[in-house]
Amino acid sequence: MKETAFTIDTSSIKYGPGVTREVGFDMRQLGAKRALVVTDPRLASSEPVTLVLSALRAEGIDAVLYDQVRVEPTDISFEHAIAFAQDGNFDGYVSVGGGSTMDTAKAANLYATYPADFLDYVNPPIGKGMPVPGPVRPHIAVPTTAGTGSETTGVAIFDLTTMHTKTGIAHRALRPQMGILDPHNTRTLPKMAAASTGLDVLSHALESLTALPYNSRAAPERPALRPAYQGANPISDIWATKAIEMVSGNIVRAIQDPEDDAARSAMLLAAAYAGIGFGNAGVHLPHGMSYPVSGMASEYNPPGYPTDHPIIPHGMSVILNAPAVFRFTAQTNPQRHLYAARLMGVDTSGVAEEDAGAALAQAIIDLMQKTGVPNGLHAIGFTEADIPALVEGALPQHRVTKLSPRPAAADDLAALFQDAMRYW
Ligand SMILES: [Zn+2]
Repeated sequence: MKETAFTIDTSSIKYGPGVTREVGFDMRQLGAKRALVVTDPRLASSEPVTLVLSALRAEGIDAVLYDQVRVEPTDISFEHAIAFAQDGNFDGYVSVGGGSTMDTAKAANLYATYPADFLDYVNPPIGKGMPVPGPVRPHIAVPTTAGTGSETTGVAIFDLTTMHTKTGIAHRALRPQMGILDPHNTRTLPKMAAASTGLDVLSHALESLTALPYNSRAAPERPALRPAYQGANPISDIWATKAIEMVSGNIVRAIQDPEDDAARSAMLLAAAYAGIGFGNAGVHLPHGMSYPVSGMASEYNPPGYPTDHPIIPHGMSVILNAPAVFRFTAQTNPQRHLYAARLMGVDTSGVAEEDAGAALAQAIIDLMQKTGVPNGLHAIGFTEADIPALVEGALPQHRVTKLSPRPAAADDLAALFQDAMRYW
């Protein structure tokens, strides 16, 4: 039997320049008396973190700082934060940073609230996929990048070091109670980080718009088993549509001029819009394929990122696969792919349906060039010899690859990685 229902869940959103100062009030409303503030070493003494700590303390909340988040976190860095959280007896969490930080806070909160073996809650087939037993502690997310939209989703992604691939924990209960979107907090984002996170937003929206429709999925045996990522649906489409327009119209300006408050604010909102869409509809192959790409980083370090370990930023690993994927999926729904290209500013009036994938791919490639993203997987150190390992890493990503509108077997994935090697 096919699915007949879909749900839209999201965090409460508070938006405004300078609104970070209200986090103490909001945390107190949620009942917390002792809060863990989670961030990464680069942001530990930054203005947003200082402001969060003082705002919490001003409301009488005992605020403790954990500043050891790893950018592109691993099971090991998650466990480090979990141990800190378990020892600290916290009844609230505030994350200040990018997706890595928000996801680390979600994991710390989950395992401190419901201790378990690490793989128990991790997505199958890599983990056991056990549902979260109940509500976790209140979590307010304060993003400092306009990217993951993690403030609106119940997903925490990490690198499983033994497998060299990313996987995650996904459950509605992990969604933060509130996302505080403050454009002041994204002013210091390095250019490549702004490009990578902004193109991640674009891909979230494009993937959720083109994902397998929710009513093409099999119905769950019982409501508790309905996945967080349900497939494209009429409400997620609205959020994705708007996000695609906002990113396409603002990303270049936001990167070139960090003082362009309007463009930067639009990107921060677009990240949340896309997050509301994909947090319910899901993403598909560009993300599924990105996990082994990031996990197999061996030599690449983009400008503006930590240099203590090789790093392929999440958004970069996603967007490098996207043009290849949309050429492959367009035949399932050419009109929807053409619609996406139009939202990106392409005049599709004379474009034939069989060219829909090419039109959308070209629109993405144009933005990649304008934002200074490397030319395909080859440019970040991959060769044809890596394709079997990349395929092996992408195959277990069922949670997302199953939402591809066109099923992708191992040989399809190999062809997609091949196509993603070079674009111009
Ligand atoms: Zn993403």
